[in-house]
Amino acid sequence: MTRILLLGGTTEANLLAQALARAGLAGVYSYAGRTEAPMGQPIHMRVGGFGGVEGLADYLKAEAISHVIDATHPFAAQMSSNAVAACTETGTPLIALERAPWVAGAGDRWTQVPDLAAAVAALDGPPRRVFLAIGRQHLDAFAAQPQHRYLVRLVDQPTAPLPVPAEVVVARGPFDVAGDTALLQRHGIQVIVAKNAGGKGAVAKIAAARALGLPVVMIDRPRIPPRRVVHGVAGVMAWLNG
Ligand code: NAP
Repeated sequence: MTRILLLGGTTEANLLAQALARAGLAGVYSYAGRTEAPMGQPIHMRVGGFGGVEGLADYLKAEAISHVIDATHPFAAQMSSNAVAACTETGTPLIALERAPWVAGAGDRWTQVPDLAAAVAALDGPPRRVFLAIGRQHLDAFAAQPQHRYLVRLVDQPTAPLPVPAEVVVARGPFDVAGDTALLQRHGIQVIVAKNAGGKGAVAKIAAARALGLPVVMIDRPRIPPRRVVHGVAGVMAWLNG
């Protein structure tokens, strides 16, 4: 019997959950539990880590999972690596719904950097107004460049002081170009730091930067062990039906 574990927390995973529900397939949507009120889903939901590779392998066996779909964010490398290891260990078929990375085009002013540390180093220099569009988790690294005034966009209002001098905007994607252009202008942003997430949910800020002629420090994706990959919901559905 088909019983799917969908590793989620992304716009793409939400679309996939809708497709699974429409197809009448049994599945569980898994959230890490990083936000206070995860979005409701049309399939069963669970929240919280599994406890590493072994915890995930135990979960797959206990819940008789027949297929794992990894639709996590491209920067959720730990979860994705754990999924590869646990699925190999238990012999569970795994597929990743991976968005193609964004590619710089005409009008883009990107500095591509390999990782977070290089993004921090790229901000060396005089004070600027910086949109730090990287979520909440790794803000502390930017404490090494305290001369800037940062703008941070988070899903939840922070409950503790941030490690960098920052204005906070609380909002949940997907975002649109008009809204992000207005945000950049309102805050007088001079440079944007972004993860190369790919996909549509977070691309608005990149298009807005292009329209305003602003530079972007673009962080490349982390490496994930080899696995079967498709780029769209249709590819996952074809795999499930195959
Ligand atoms: P991560 O560093 O790869 O994962 C750290 C740990 O969090 C994992 O080892 C796992 O704990 C738990 N975890 C992560 N995703 C999970 C999921 N979908 N279900 C259950 N447990 C999960 O991940 P992350 O970068 O913190 O991302 C966490 C979640 O936020 C993911 O669902 C991701 O799709 C979403 N997200 C991340 C980003 C980003 O920029 N990283 C952006 C948007 C959304 P155990 O080892 O205990 O199993």
